[in-house]
Amino acid sequence: MGKLEGKVALVTGAGRRAGIGAAIARRLAQEGAHLVIADLAAPPRGPLNPGGGTWEEMEALAAEIEAHNRRCIPVRVDVTDEDMVEAMIRTVQDAFGRLDILVNNAGSIFAPAQVVDMPLEGWQKTLAVNATGTFLCCKHALPLIMRGQRGGRIINIASLAAERPRPYMAAYAASKAAVVALTQSLAQEVAPYGITVNAVLPGDIDTPMKQWGFTLESQVLQVPREEVIRHLVARIPVGRLGLPEDVAHLVAFLASEEAAFITGQAYKITGGRELT
Ligand code: NAD
Repeated sequence: MGKLEGKVALVTGAGRRAGIGAAIARRLAQEGAHLVIADLAAPPRGPLNPGGGTWEEMEALAAEIEAHNRRCIPVRVDVTDEDMVEAMIRTVQDAFGRLDILVNNAGSIFAPAQVVDMPLEGWQKTLAVNATGTFLCCKHALPLIMRGQRGGRIINIASLAAERPRPYMAAYAASKAAVVALTQSLAQEVAPYGITVNAVLPGDIDTPMKQWGFTLESQVLQVPREEVIRHLVARIPVGRLGLPEDVAHLVAFLASEEAAFITGQAYKITGGRELT
């Protein structure tokens, strides 16, 4: 029997089959959870951005999970839109009548640039998706989680950038630092209800977003893409990029009963990169 048998989990940003959100959804289902997977499922508009998941990918992921006898419902949501977030939680309520695990994984980067060149729109959109989106999902999921009086788990996907900000990434780093602060504040508010709130800070994980970052960096630095990757991997003691599954294993542990005494923490999962 899995660690999450009978639990219901909501994972945002699960629209890319090769992304971290999809790996988390698969892993939680493997442990026995039923799923709602949510994503913008539309190409993000506006300034330079890493693209996003599609509805077709979400349907395929849902079918894959359902083939393993777990329910999985795909939902279209823009986590920056409060009405859509409320509608997403109603979908969870109508389908399952409960929610045990919320994973705030939806995230993006818009127009990375030096601060002096950064368009206000890029700053605002990055903060809106990563920080405000996480806040809105916590705010509207909590009443449903609390209603069950069975405790619960919130896991927020931040980034190593929250603790080790790099140039050109001020908006992204600030948004992820906000996610960590939100996590630590909220953890204290909901601890009396048996709900834990933790943040996961991935380093360099091989996903479509990361691959887009490599392309961008190679253009900015005018060096071949392979050289950008080689240089980065040389600074990771474990000697490779992370896999979405590496992150998913940690999330599954934090979602389990075994992690009941862990709250308000920010776990780096980086292959040791910040040590070099
Ligand atoms: P990804 O692009 O594959 O996944 C992000 C998903 O979020 C996409 O499917 C996108 O459509 C969705 N999304 C974007 N804006 C949204 C919105 N407004 N509403 C709903 N969904 C929205 O990228 P990933 O690498 O799998 O990233 C997943 C999370 O991990 C993100 O929060 C990212 O910041 C974080 N992260 C990734 C890395 C990495 O190296 N890949 C490192 C640190 C942190």
